[in-house]
Amino acid sequence: ATGSDENDVVVIGGGPGGYVAAIKAAQLGLKTTCIEKRGTLGGTCLNVGCIPSKALLHSSHMYHEAKHSFPSHGVKFPSVEVDLPAMMAQKDKAVGNLTKGIEGLFKKNKVNYVKGYGKIVSPSDVSVDTIDGGNTVVKGKNIIIATGSDVKSLPGITIDEKRIVSSTGALALKEIPKKLVVIGAGYIGLEMGSVWGRLGSEVTVVEFAPDIVPTMDGEIRKQFQRSLEKQKMKFMLKTKVVGVDTSGHSVKLTLEPAAGGDKTELEADVVLVSAGRVPFTAGLGLDKIGVEMDKAGRILVNERFSTNVAGIYAIGDVIPGPMLAHKAEEDGVACVEFIAGKVGHVDYDKVPGVVYTHPEVASVGKTEEQVKSLGVAYRVGKFPFLANSRAKAIDDAEGIVKIVAEKETDKILGVHIMAPNAGELIHEAVLALAYDASSEDIARVCHAHPTMSEALKEAAMATYDKPIHI
Ligand code: FAD
Repeated sequence: ATGSDENDVVVIGGGPGGYVAAIKAAQLGLKTTCIEKRGTLGGTCLNVGCIPSKALLHSSHMYHEAKHSFPSHGVKFPSVEVDLPAMMAQKDKAVGNLTKGIEGLFKKNKVNYVKGYGKIVSPSDVSVDTIDGGNTVVKGKNIIIATGSDVKSLPGITIDEKRIVSSTGALALKEIPKKLVVIGAGYIGLEMGSVWGRLGSEVTVVEFAPDIVPTMDGEIRKQFQRSLEKQKMKFMLKTKVVGVDTSGHSVKLTLEPAAGGDKTELEADVVLVSAGRVPFTAGLGLDKIGVEMDKAGRILVNERFSTNVAGIYAIGDVIPGPMLAHKAEEDGVACVEFIAGKVGHVDYDKVPGVVYTHPEVASVGKTEEQVKSLGVAYRVGKFPFLANSRAKAIDDAEGIVKIVAEKETDKILGVHIMAPNAGELIHEAVLALAYDASSEDIARVCHAHPTMSEALKEAAMATYDKPIHI
C-alpha cells in the first residue's frame, strides 16, 4: 500500500527518537513514513520504560506517603491499602492515552504510519513484514534507523517475565513480591526497587561494581545510597550472581564476591535483571548493507547522524551517547534538520539525567570527579534542602544542590541535585550550562520565595561567595 510512491524520509522505529524525527521531518515539508513493529507508537519509553515506571513511582509514592507521612501532617485514615490491579490500570490508561496521542500527532502532521518489522534491503528500500501478515516495500531517499535498545540478559539467567523479570515484567507484576532481588544498581533497578519496596517488598540490590549508579557525582551518590538504605533498600555491592536455581518454590541465587571468594545464597520471590540495555538491530539487515557498528553493537554515525552508507542515518539508543529518551528526541530533530539542508546540533555533555526515586537525583554536566581528572581548577558550592524554607515547610527536606564551577572564570561545569523534585529543578541548570553561565549569573537572578529553586540560587552564591541562609 505504501511502496508505490517514494518518501523523502523513512524512519524505522516509532520510539522517542523515531516518532519525533518523523513528526519534525513532516513539519519541515518532507514526505515521511514511520515503520514500527510493536503495534503501538512511543517505543520502549512510552510502552515499557519512562512512562509506566513514572506512573508506578507516583502511585507507590502516594501510598507510601499516605501510610507514613500523612499522619504527621494531620491527615488520618482508619487504614490504607494497596489495590494493585487499580494501580496497574491507572498506569495502563496513561500509557494507552499517550501512545494513541502520538498516532493523532502523526495524522495531524501527515506522517504515514506502517505497522510492521522493517528490514533494509537497499539504501533506498525497506521491506516490511506487516503486523497483519503481509509484506510491503517502503521506498525513501533517506532512511533513519531508530530501532532503540533491548534488555541486556546475563549469562546463565533466563528471563521468564514471571519470577525472573526484566524491567518490562517488573512493571506488570500481578502480586507484590515478599522478597525482590534486583540485579544491577543502575537507575532502572533503583526506580523499580523503590516502587516495590514502597508497596511492601523486601528489596535487595546486588551490584558487581563497588558503587550504585556509576555516572553519578560521588558525594551525591553516597547521600543517595544512604537515603535508599533508610527506605530499607539493602545493597550488596562488589557482588556477582553466579547461579540461579528456579526449581523450588522460591528462586535461589548463588552469590560470590566480585573479586572471588566464598559463595553465599540469597532467596527471592522475584528477581529483576536490570544490568543495562543493548542496542537493538536484529533482523534489520545491516551486515548486508555494510552499516558500520562498534564492538558493543552500536551503529556508528558522524556529527550529521549519517552512517558510513550514504542515505542511511541512525539516532537514539542504537547509537553511542546517553541512552535516554530526551537525547533520542534531540538526535531525531537534529538528524532531520541535516536531511532538510539545515544545521542541527546535540551537545551530549549537556543532556540532563534524572533518577526518579524519592528524593530524585538529577544532574547535568560534569561530576566533581570528572572535573578533577581533567586537571581543571574548580570551586564547589553546596546548599542543603534542610536550610530551604519550602522544603522545611512541607517537611520533605532531604537533599542537596551541588555546583561545580571553574575556579578562574566561575563558569558552571556541572550541577547535581538530590531533592524531591530534582528532575524539574535541574532545567534551570541545564539552561545555565547551555548559555555558558557563571554561578554568579544564577545567584543574581531573582528566584521566587518560598521555592525549592532557591536552593540552586544559594548553592550558586556558595560557589563564588557565601550563601545567605546557612
Ligand atoms: P526505543 O524507545 O527503544 O524505540 C525503538 C522502537 O523501534 C521500538 O518501539 C521497537 O519496537 C522499534 N523497532 C525496532 N526494530 C524495528 C524494526 N526492524 N522494524 C520496526 N520497528 C522496529 N529514559 C529517560 O529519558 N527517562 C526515563 O525516565 C526512562 N525510564 C526508563 C525506564 C525503563 C524501565 C526503561 C527500560 C527505559 C527507560 N528510559 C528512560 C530509556 C528510554 O526508554 C530510551 O532511552 C528511549 O526509549 C530510546 O528511544 P529510541 O527511540 O532510541 O528507542
